[in-house]
Amino acid sequence: MPFKSLQSDIFLPRDLTTWQWLFEHPTYSPLHRFPASQLGGYHNAVTKETLNWADVKTAASHLSTALVRNYGLQEGNTVALFSQNTIWYPVAMHATLRVGGKVSGASPAYNVEEMSYALRTADARFLMTHPDSMAVAVAAAREAGVPRENVFLLEGSMEGYKNVKELIEEGRGLEEVPYFRIPEGKTNGDVCGFLSFSSGTTGLPKAVMIAHQNVIAQCLQVQRITPPDLTRILAVLPSFHITGLVHALHLPALINATVIMLPAFSMESMLNTVVEYQLSELLLVPPILIRMVRDPIVDKYDLSFLRRFSSGAAPLSEEIIQQLKAKFPQTGFKQGYGMTESCSCITAHPPEKYGYEYAHTVGTVCASTTIKIMKEDGTEGGVGEPGEIWAKGPQIVMGYLNNEKATRETFDEDGYLHTGDQGSIDEDGVITILDRIKEMIKVKGIGVAPAELEDLLLGHPKVEDVAVLGIKDDWAGEVPKAYIVPKGGEANADAILGRELMAYVREKKVRYKAVKEVEFIDVIPKSASGKILRRVLRDRERSGVRGV
Ligand code: AMP
Repeated sequence: MPFKSLQSDIFLPRDLTTWQWLFEHPTYSPLHRFPASQLGGYHNAVTKETLNWADVKTAASHLSTALVRNYGLQEGNTVALFSQNTIWYPVAMHATLRVGGKVSGASPAYNVEEMSYALRTADARFLMTHPDSMAVAVAAAREAGVPRENVFLLEGSMEGYKNVKELIEEGRGLEEVPYFRIPEGKTNGDVCGFLSFSSGTTGLPKAVMIAHQNVIAQCLQVQRITPPDLTRILAVLPSFHITGLVHALHLPALINATVIMLPAFSMESMLNTVVEYQLSELLLVPPILIRMVRDPIVDKYDLSFLRRFSSGAAPLSEEIIQQLKAKFPQTGFKQGYGMTESCSCITAHPPEKYGYEYAHTVGTVCASTTIKIMKEDGTEGGVGEPGEIWAKGPQIVMGYLNNEKATRETFDEDGYLHTGDQGSIDEDGVITILDRIKEMIKVKGIGVAPAELEDLLLGHPKVEDVAVLGIKDDWAGEVPKAYIVPKGGEANADAILGRELMAYVREKKVRYKAVKEVEFIDVIPKSASGKILRRVLRDRERSGVRGV
């Protein structure tokens, strides 16, 4: 039996791009609903630089004009954004969308190999970056065939590269390019605006095709359950992740909030900002919530004005929930559950469920969304029965770019996304996540694909076979662990080799993908078709066997 949202459906415009919706439309755009003096926008907490929605519209219009007229950006082209958070990131994003381009965000911590893989997979033609990421960006662009003259800076300056402000000035002097419209006979669900990376339920990271409609629908769904007191939103979550993309870069315009952007994260800078702007709700990921209860620096601050914690992207343990409640008794708690493939939330807490008694759950099904709980025997589960969550709604994305096989495996013919998460629903429609049955490892809220680390380790001369699994970690939530079959057998396996392999991964991959534990085994358990039997390894892990 499918479980439909208990909320009434959202009204979803089908003919608008995100640009038209947020910057042109008489009933949705904050520019038409609020006087200029009351507009929210993007604000840099460190430099105090601010762009209100009118400034964003002007800047993005000029930027898109320059990119089209002077650099050849065309409808359908991908612009990769590779940067820490800056207020110029959403300007570049909206500029790209304005003229029918696609935006692809990547972690600013990526190395050359990872970034060139991202550029190739997303078929990027343009790259906008930050001075801190420039060296990697230039090398990755060269490897992936992105022309050097299409590499720009979002902010700062560097010899030989133009920055966004210079491009905006170029665009100001040119005849403005009209904004892109959804082609006749199509809807905004057919036009991809974003390519974000996720490994999905299995395999290597893939470019998830997110339609204009998905982002619009998700913002309307979240707006439905957002209290009107949310006028300032702290953006510590990275802009490249779906949570940041929706909740910090788009939703604030719909609800006319101001996004307080923190370029580089530290507990101290975050807490200073929270106090300076008296932020009443904090949208954080579990690793930062863990620090809110454990890091002694928090005790230096009077946070009695805090009203609510909001969590997402990964599970938060019951222990931390109880500690949050004890340390900040005046607060409520809410969280969203979803994935990149659902453009963020499938479920979330509505305001009547902000109490800590619901904090171990992920709330109720978002408006206009239906879920099924699929039991192991392939039948649909009822109330209280555990099973894999399948979800259908206007926020479910288009599929994976150039990967029909993975698309077919993940999105079925009836429009349901197979999440790879196990959960249950109670008689009030409240959902609890019980387990993750897919391969993905969540390190500090960011997805890591075991297949990517397995491919790397298989290339090491001393490794015969390998399987990578996520194990629990007190600070990061989960960290990768490698089960290794050494070349030449058990005799060659020792702590020195374990450390060598961990160093090898550290050298080749971004820091959050680091393998934290190695265990040597005789053979990797596999099915007859050669698939790694991760469940066998997980059971072994739960039984307490420890590695190097
Ligand atoms: P991503 O595509 O990076 O957002 O990762 C999506 C995955 O993160 C989901 O399929 C879940 O396994 C996990 N996840 C996201 N939100 C939650 C949550 N609130 N509780 C538990 N797991 C979550």
